[in-house]
Amino acid sequence: MTRRSVTILGSTGSIGKNTVELIEARPDLYCVEALVANSSVELLAAQARRLKPKMAVVADPAAGPALRQALDGSGIATAAGPEAVVAAAERPAEWVMAAIVGAAGLAPTLAAVRRGAVVALANKECLVCAGSLMIAEVARAGATLLPVDSEHSAIFQVFDFSQVDTVEKIVLTASGGPFRSVSREAMAAMTPQQAVAHPNWSMGAKISVDSATMMNKGLELIEAHHLFAIPEDRIDIVVHPQSVIHSLVAYVDGSVLAQLGSPDMRTPIAYALGWPRRIPAPSPRLDLAAVANLTFEAPDPERFPALRLARLALQTGKSAPTVLNAANEVAVAAFLAGRIGFLDIAATVERTLEALPPVALDSIEDVLAEDQRARARARDLIERTSNS
Ligand code: NAD
Ligand code: MG
Repeated sequence: MTRRSVTILGSTGSIGKNTVELIEARPDLYCVEALVANSSVELLAAQARRLKPKMAVVADPAAGPALRQALDGSGIATAAGPEAVVAAAERPAEWVMAAIVGAAGLAPTLAAVRRGAVVALANKECLVCAGSLMIAEVARAGATLLPVDSEHSAIFQVFDFSQVDTVEKIVLTASGGPFRSVSREAMAAMTPQQAVAHPNWSMGAKISVDSATMMNKGLELIEAHHLFAIPEDRIDIVVHPQSVIHSLVAYVDGSVLAQLGSPDMRTPIAYALGWPRRIPAPSPRLDLAAVANLTFEAPDPERFPALRLARLALQTGKSAPTVLNAANEVAVAAFLAGRIGFLDIAATVERTLEALPPVALDSIEDVLAEDQRARARARDLIERTSNS
């Protein structure tokens, strides 16, 4: 059997490190074509020395010389800059993990899609901002999109693609994040450290804040709509604090199918890595007696306005999801930098959506232009908030 060649976009992040761990455990199954990170030279170089990719790339041009020096004599080629990241995605790996955070991952993910690769998609923001155009590119290139987000991996595993017309509903589960039972008054004072302390999952800073605002579930709603071609009004969200049921699909005969597991991203990553077969993963085994109770509650749209905004953006269509995502990225970065408060995140997204009426996006270039426009507007709104 030939080994599957893989490229990891975002290998130094939370998803990236878990992917590296799984690949390293199976040198009989995988060889590495390229590893890509933003600027964490030391970690990237250490991964490269162990996994021996053909190439290691940093997005930050300033980190290029340090990477070249760190891998000097290793026989591994290095490069730096956003174009080099796209070129890395174009290299002929059969399987690509798209685990860059944010819309910055759109161009390289699309490059892998356009050459017909099997793309394991963790980077939900690129589907949110380029949705139907991205899905059209997947179809045109004959690429395969495998969801890595735990909810979408769950749905993918129980979704009957041979009789899509029998799917009545998709139900996305949400942990509710660290502020699930916190009042809006208390949320106003929450610090970045409190927001990134997720009760069940260990993740990068941006998605951790998204979980605290529940924008993450809003982005996942849009992601599910595109991945499974299910209309917005047939996708429900239920809060399930134990994060054991990762999501569900309800069928016309009343059956509801779910995928369960301990909250550990190595399971959905392994599913995508092994697909269409399963490979072993070291995630803690689910002990239902120890979990004892699985509970559910309706999400609270008053305390978590981001959920309402994401649903509205999906209903509005056109550029609204692109604007929602871009404004959210800017607002989360400002919150993490201590420039705005926690409640200002959703407020910034809402005001940016109000300021930019929806326009049709006919190409990826249109998407990137609208993304930039929304970022500029969100920054402007934040500037005024923090100066007032
Ligand atoms: P992270 O911040 O831990 O890692 C991000 C990775 O992307 C790092 O390797 C970083 O170097 C790289 N990167 C950042 N900007 C880049 C750029 N401009 N060019 C190239 N590389 C860049 O984030 P994460 O938690 O691993 O999340 C990655 C993606 O996966 C996000 O879209 C997130 O929503 C999604 N996701 C994550 C989890 C999780 O458990 N962490 C679960 C589901 C989905
Ligand atoms: Mg998720």
